[in-house]
Amino acid sequence: MYTVPKLEDYSPEALDRATQELLSALEQESAAITGAKACEDFRNRWMARKNGILTQVNDTWLKAAPGPSKREVGQRVNALKQKVEERVAAVEEQMSGSASEAKLKAETLDITLPGIQRPYGVKHPVLQVLDELIGVFVKMGYSVAEGPEVESDYYNFEALNFPPNHPARDTQDTLFIANQERRPQRDRLLLRTHTSPVQIRSMEQLKPPVRVICPGKVHRNDAPDATHSPVFHQIEGLCVDTNITFADLKGTLEHAMKSLFGNDVKTRFFPSFFPFTEPSADIAISCPFCGGKGCRPCKQSGWIELLGAGMVDPNVFGFVGYDPQKFSGFAFGMGVERLAMMKYEVDDIQQFFSGDMRFLRQFA
Ligand SMILES: [Zn+2]
Repeated sequence: MYTVPKLEDYSPEALDRATQELLSALEQESAAITGAKACEDFRNRWMARKNGILTQVNDTWLKAAPGPSKREVGQRVNALKQKVEERVAAVEEQMSGSASEAKLKAETLDITLPGIQRPYGVKHPVLQVLDELIGVFVKMGYSVAEGPEVESDYYNFEALNFPPNHPARDTQDTLFIANQERRPQRDRLLLRTHTSPVQIRSMEQLKPPVRVICPGKVHRNDAPDATHSPVFHQIEGLCVDTNITFADLKGTLEHAMKSLFGNDVKTRFFPSFFPFTEPSADIAISCPFCGGKGCRPCKQSGWIELLGAGMVDPNVFGFVGYDPQKFSGFAFGMGVERLAMMKYEVDDIQQFFSGDMRFLRQFA
């Protein structure tokens, strides 16, 4: 480390040597500076008023100089002072420059990096089909009605003309809520097996004319396989007014099926049985995929059974206080998953509930 020597010899050569030594020390020390702290130390070491190197030079060289040399030593000390000040200023500037450069670098936003993608969600395929169906019926003047998924025996069965212990109840494997033995049967709770209870609830609240569709989740005690699921969706429709006939039922469903599957689709009605409609029918549509020639979705038959329907049984009107002499109506219902499976050629109903993104992405 450089220290300011005492001068014995004030000859120009000796002064040159001392000056040169000091300047090369200045050069070396300034070159080694890294960081703000070292920069501050450097300034203090050379320029501090008390005992800085310049002060020492002033004291040990100039003040001690013999009279004849004073002038020359004074000039040299002034030149040194200027050089040291310049050097310190240069180092400080360099430091603050590299500091702001570092700051800028830290704050830089690399706009070439790929952003974070936040994809929009899309409707589940079952909901897409459900909404499409709702749209068809809303255009025909129907409104949407909903009801509870935990339903009473009365709404799920009794008011729909399933008397207690009637064998028709056995066609719907029902999930009952436990520990209700002490309640009267009509009040016992269960997971609704169909959306039909919403028809009863709607008629209790509305006076005819009634036009409602009832979409929703239903539950059956079915073991899951490719075509069965303990949870699935239905959509039902109900129309009650004066002079509603089976022709209205046929016309409505034919229009709905054409809206969904195109104008070439045909409908076929087969006699069937449901406790809450009389007469009842199962309805098949001509296969929209092969046009009736036979293919995999229609199991080579050319027809696909899609709906259950019928004229509302007068007994049902009795439960909701409608006069069966005055009013008539029809009701229909279908499974939404079944429709979605057909529409998208899905061969396993479990796919809809598996949460497998590879499956669901196809409907995005
Ligand atoms: Zn077909």
